[in-house]
Amino acid sequence: MRITKSMTLGAAAIAAALVLSGCSDSGAGTEPEVDESVEFEAGTTMAELNEAGSITIGTKFDQPLFGLQGLDGEPVGFDVEIGKIIAAELGIAPEDIDWVETVSANREPFIQDGQVDMVVATYTINDTRKEVIDFAGPYYEAGQDLLVLEGNPEGIEGAEYFEENPDAAVCTVTGSTSLANIQEYTSNVLQAETYSACLEPLRRGEVVAVTTDNVILAGLADQNEGEFEVVGNPFTAEPYGIGIEKGDDAFRTFINDVLEEAYEDGRWAEAWEATAGSVLETPEPPAVDRY
Ligand code: GLU
Repeated sequence: MRITKSMTLGAAAIAAALVLSGCSDSGAGTEPEVDESVEFEAGTTMAELNEAGSITIGTKFDQPLFGLQGLDGEPVGFDVEIGKIIAAELGIAPEDIDWVETVSANREPFIQDGQVDMVVATYTINDTRKEVIDFAGPYYEAGQDLLVLEGNPEGIEGAEYFEENPDAAVCTVTGSTSLANIQEYTSNVLQAETYSACLEPLRRGEVVAVTTDNVILAGLADQNEGEFEVVGNPFTAEPYGIGIEKGDDAFRTFINDVLEEAYEDGRWAEAWEATAGSVLETPEPPAVDRY
């Protein structure tokens, strides 16, 4: 938690006590300092959002560590923290963010038709997606892996298993890079709308693995202790970007600047440690790609 300028001494003392007791006043994550004095050039997306005082962000609602809906309806996780950091630099407080659930397949359409101002949702930057939207970032790099039943009864060591065992089915999500990547190895793929929906088919033995980014799988394994394990042999690179409307170069530059500042001043690492860091080691932030 950061002590904001507007906090009174009493509030700061309470905040310090909450930190000492391991509690956060927002329920989870960090409280980025909101830049209330910030000004933007008229006509830019930044000026519009600042003026509106709110922003709509698409994220996952069922992915522990990155975007998981809490009991109060608000999502928590590293993606959520990245969204909060960007909003704060636009002069928008965390409580003024409207979080919208995006699943893998609806991220580009939601950005294209303006249902969201940005998407922060374990969203891999790639050229196909860049044809219809733009990406700031990356702010993290994952790799595709496999989730199997605890004890790995089939002895699955990597994606090649599916090339060698065409009768073995694997579950992943429609509209994801995970689907396109695993299809290089097999056509025996069960497609779900979300990764959490792949867990029951794995439990029932309808598939022998779930495949997607290692950090998503690590979150699902952690959430269902003793049931699953991650194979730990990533076979792709998945740089996570922030999806925005295509052609909004000023907004993209602004977000890239915010990310670099957050790398430098420790907010990025603080965001990681407050969320994904409960299970995963703190990585080095990747270099921003200002294509
Ligand atoms: N990062 C991959 C993607 O953007 C897989 C995870 C996901 O579907 O969110 O497609």
